[in-house]
Amino acid sequence: MSGVNEIRSAFLDYFAKNGHQVVESGPLVPRNDPTLMFTNAGMNQFKNVFTGLEKRDYQRAATAQKVVRAGGKHNDLDNVGYTARHHTFFEMLGNFSFGDYFKDRAIELAWNLITKEYGLPKDKLLVTVYSEDEDAAGLWRKIAGLSDDKIIRIPTSDNFWTMGDTGPCGPCSEIFFDHGDKIWGGPPGSAEEDGDRFIEIWNLVFMQYEQTPEARLDLPRPSIDTGMGLERVAAVLQGVHDNYDIDLFKALIAASENATGVKAEGAAQASHRVIADHLRSTSFLIADGVLPSNEGRGYVLRRIMRRGMRHAHLLGARDPLMFKLVPALLREMGQAYPELLRAEALITETLKLEETRFRKTLERGLGLLDTATEGLGEGGELDGETAFKLYDTYGFPLDLTQDALRARGVSVDTAGFDAAMQRQKAEARAAWSGSGEAATETVWFALKERLGATEFLGYDTEVAEGVI
Ligand code: ATP
Ligand code: MG
Ligand code: MG
Ligand code: MG
Repeated sequence: MSGVNEIRSAFLDYFAKNGHQVVESGPLVPRNDPTLMFTNAGMNQFKNVFTGLEKRDYQRAATAQKVVRAGGKHNDLDNVGYTARHHTFFEMLGNFSFGDYFKDRAIELAWNLITKEYGLPKDKLLVTVYSEDEDAAGLWRKIAGLSDDKIIRIPTSDNFWTMGDTGPCGPCSEIFFDHGDKIWGGPPGSAEEDGDRFIEIWNLVFMQYEQTPEARLDLPRPSIDTGMGLERVAAVLQGVHDNYDIDLFKALIAASENATGVKAEGAAQASHRVIADHLRSTSFLIADGVLPSNEGRGYVLRRIMRRGMRHAHLLGARDPLMFKLVPALLREMGQAYPELLRAEALITETLKLEETRFRKTLERGLGLLDTATEGLGEGGELDGETAFKLYDTYGFPLDLTQDALRARGVSVDTAGFDAAMQRQKAEARAAWSGSGEAATETVWFALKERLGATEFLGYDTEVAEGVI
């Protein structure tokens, strides 16, 4: 059995051996890309290399990239604790060709890594291709010897990658591992594809076109971008189905069990998983310079932290908990990511402070929530006024309230929440206009509104809503 650290090294060594430059992970807060909230894929740091704006002295690269998917285009926050395969923070292993090798070599490199170096059994593997990409289907048949029933053609945008409305784009091909019929789920493209039986481990993107406002042109030198989830491939290699059962998560969950005295069984299991996941995203974000606040990236961090804290409360913790788990995280990941070691004091203090503050209102807010939802069962709805009061007075981000009610099948009237928020904004504005400095106020509000809009350009509207 290989641990996460060995699997990561084996990936990078393999691509180095095959002529790739090993490049360090980019930071979670992307440099020079205001359209992106957090780095969400390995290719982000190479975006300008793919478009040709920037040149590097290598044409092949490999990385283990830190990624957060908790807002914007990819938001897996609501999946954590509910699926076997999603985290808010994870490591994406990737190899890249900037106009160098293309589809055939990319497929060959990927196939050899997983079947030879990692030794995965071929009969458990299947792939998807974009329905119009006959090249890819033919290459999988030839290089991997896969039969046609293991090469699934997908006609949707799931298998056609684009950078934006214009720019490089192309079909992609995903490699799936079948964890067996004891687990619910169907193959990609089927009605049960969201189940956890067939798990996508690697996505190969073939950038072969350039989309202009007028037409889709063939790129003279097509490129390759790939992403494989380290935790997902680790689960396969360690013979477990669930990402949360790999060595790294077992260690974090054990620390959480120790600190709470509650075993990760039954209903407590999901809480321990959420805590372990959120500990990682929180710590890595802080190490990369994000601090909890009421807007933008800082608010996403705060939402993640507070969700984790509610789960700690569910486990019976009445004192700050998450900061106590930092040493376990550093033991597991500090060597690969020394920025965590450097930021240890900041991570610990930030968690402790936020936990201490939120604890003051968490318990009372949960009390209000209980009263307001008494008698509501499956299909019930919490009114928007109460959800807003929880947000405004008790510091409950909307998604925390939703998460708290989800297990009971109760939803939140989000339109009512928005309306309450708008009303409060309007009242604040009206109160201001009484102070006799109309010109300054107008400028202030105009600025605030404009800056708010700029700040959230391209982000999740949910995030934007969270800001007053
Ligand atoms: P899924 O369909 O399972 O949500 P995806 O298609 O959104 O995955 P990609 O955007 O293709 O994922 O990312 C590349 C790889 O990163 C995936 O093949 C998977 O191994 C991994 N990955 C994606 N999202 C997550 C996540 N939230 N947690 C852990 N690994 C992930
Ligand atoms: Mg996804
Ligand atoms: Mg997918
Ligand atoms: Mg994918």
